[in-house]
Amino acid sequence: MLINLHSHLEGRVRPTTAAELAAVAGIAAPEGGWEQAIRLTGPVDLTVYLTKVAATYPFFRSPDAARRIAREAVEDAAASGLDYLELRFGPATHTDDERGLEDVIAAVTEGMREGSEATGMPSGAVVACLRHHDSDTNEAVARAAALFAGEGVVGFDLAGDELLYPALEPHRRAFAIARAAELGITCHAAEAGPASAARQAVEQLGASRIGHGAHIVDDPDILRWCADEGVVVEICPTSNWYTGAIPAVAAHPAPRFRDAGVRLVLGDDNPMQTGTDLREERGILIDVLGFSAEHLDAIDEASLDAAFLDPGTRHALAAKQK
Ligand SMILES: [Zn+2]
Repeated sequence: MLINLHSHLEGRVRPTTAAELAAVAGIAAPEGGWEQAIRLTGPVDLTVYLTKVAATYPFFRSPDAARRIAREAVEDAAASGLDYLELRFGPATHTDDERGLEDVIAAVTEGMREGSEATGMPSGAVVACLRHHDSDTNEAVARAAALFAGEGVVGFDLAGDELLYPALEPHRRAFAIARAAELGITCHAAEAGPASAARQAVEQLGASRIGHGAHIVDDPDILRWCADEGVVVEICPTSNWYTGAIPAVAAHPAPRFRDAGVRLVLGDDNPMQTGTDLREERGILIDVLGFSAEHLDAIDEASLDAAFLDPGTRHALAAKQK
């Protein structure tokens, strides 16, 4: 079973599509071309990594382009054998004078719907608000996301620079709006920040899932708390290596989470940048991090349970797993 619960739309733009869209929009090709502007050839640091992801941002200002990118992202995921894809994106980065949050979300969810219809692979959009945006902006993002609840949007997330913007308090209201709309709640936390950031995201924002959470293992009490509370950690080993968060995939804390009884699910974060996919991430768990077939079964079970799925789709996927 291949369920991808942590993947960014902005990290799934095909370089060939970027080149075509740039030609239409009159955006000059970057030095070295789009392939080089988007892809990494090896580990860097978070700043360089995010520059590669941000290279795709100009394309999302056109609804047609955003729709195409979203459709192709779902098609690529289905072609790689995925059973379900949750795709997150930050609409506030993609608005301009003419297009608002709802326009961006409508374009992305429409593209995803087209992709799912064409391939038969279900998908759900997770709208992300950003740490460096103010409360008003993020509340507007939450209200816009809420309008699409049950219409393509399944979840709500907080992303961005955790070291520069560690406070969660300013975003509480946005998450309350998202929870009231019955969106699933996830939060990038304890990725660059301390273990306590994960517990705060659960307690202050209502997160049931934590993105990356690599530093949770630094604090045995919080690690145990996450296991006891059933907090789900979305792990993306190759991404953590490429951003410099860990020195090698072999150093990923996945085995420590597993041994502590923390529920794990898997993602590929920004696969166009790192050249990975979910099958490869599973391979890393087996070949590098010592996971057994039973351990992977536990990941499948947690993924089915923690995915922001409607009951019908969850049931259909569970039946497929057997
Ligand atoms: Zn992420």
